[in-house]
Formats: sequence, C-alpha cells, structure tokens
Amino acid sequence: MTIPSTPSPNFDARRGPPDMIVLHYTGMQTGAEALARLCDPAAKVSAHYVIEEDGGLVQLVAEERRAWHAGVSFWKGERDINAVSIGVELVNPGHEFGYRDFPDPQIEALIGLLDAVRGRWEIPNGRILGHSDVAPDRKTDPGEKFPWKRLAEAGHGLWLEPPAAPGAPLSVGDEGAGVFALQAGLTRLGYDSAPSGKYDDHTASIIAAFQRHWRPGRIDGIADGETRARLVHILRAAAEG
Ligand SMILES: [Zn+2]
Repeated sequence: MTIPSTPSPNFDARRGPPDMIVLHYTGMQTGAEALARLCDPAAKVSAHYVIEEDGGLVQLVAEERRAWHAGVSFWKGERDINAVSIGVELVNPGHEFGYRDFPDPQIEALIGLLDAVRGRWEIPNGRILGHSDVAPDRKTDPGEKFPWKRLAEAGHGLWLEPPAAPGAPLSVGDEGAGVFALQAGLTRLGYDSAPSGKYDDHTASIIAAFQRHWRPGRIDGIADGETRARLVHILRAAAEG
C-alpha cells in the first residue's frame, strides 16, 4: 500500500517505540481545512495520519517521530501521550459543526491502517483509545458515533456488552465506598482518577468519556448499574491483554 504523504513540520523525537493508538476527529468544517492546520507550523499540532470520509489516507508524520495530537493528557501514569502513541485523525465536523456518522469507507481504511501499524509495533487492545479517554475534561472526540464495536470485531480495541446489571446510580455529590471503588476501577483501566471517595465534576467527565467509548447509548456522566458493569468487564478484558 502506498500512502500519499503531506509532511507536517510539527513533530519532534520520541524516546521509545509507540505502544498506543489515539483516535481523533478533526472537528473542522472540511478535511482540507483540517489538513492545512495540521501542517501549519504556527498551529503546532499534527497527527501521524488523516483519514478522509471517502477512505483516503494521508500520512503527515513518520511513525518513528512524536506527533503533536494529544495535548495535556494521561493514561496509566503516562502524561506524555504524544511520546508513546500514534495519532490518527478521522475527518468529521465533530460536535461543534454537525457531528455525523463515520462512513464505511473511512472505517475500512482505518481498520487497514491499524492492521499495518500493529504489524510494525506492539500495541495491546487496551491501548487503542479515544482522545476523550486520555483528556476527558477537555475533549469529546472521536465521540459516541465512533464504531468501537465494529473496530473490535475487526480485531482492534476492546468491546463488551455484558448483561444489564441492576444497581443504584452514582452521580455528582455522592460520597463513600462505592464511589471510591468506582474511581479505583477507572484508575486501574487507565483514567486519571485518583480515588477520593467523592464523586466530583472530574469523575463525571471521566464517566462520560468511558460512556462515549464503551456505553454510547447513554452519555450523562452518571455511573448507573450498566455503566459500572461494563467497566468491570472491560477491566477484565484489558487485564487479559
Ligand atoms: Zn482530538
């Protein structure tokens, strides 16, 4: 496969091989506009790849280099997510400009790209993440329309649909052992959620990010029984690699 390249000047050196993939949407009105920004030295942002809605794939930065896509972020103790990840931007106007479904050719191109990238680098399924997972207070991309289930069926990332579980919801203002256990579980998965036992706005942002990825039918930052059941199952799957 020959991939056209539009080199971006916005990169620097990695300190080791990448072991994570971070998926984004471009969040701009057109793909051309997004490409121009990702190659603009003044913007100081980039990604390794951009995938157009028709499946067109463009490489901006070599995988061996550190692209600038994640910003202030965190996963499993790592704050320099750019240093450890490969960033992929999917053209989509995003929540601000008319969020829409990711077309099939775009997702097929992404699956082909992930097959190739994961043939070159050791990247576990539990480290294929959305920008919102690593920056839940700031970011909502690639968002709840992104087909994580389809991606997992193609062998990339984690997806599970456990049976519905009863249980009282936890939400902002709640305190106690249940909240502590929830935060501990989110931390174990990778989120920046040091357990305090207090369900604050940051906890709600993380639950909303978890829901965008693993429970897209309900994104309200409230940890109901089903959200908690899904967390338990995803944790188990992540532990198995
Ligand atoms: Zn992003």
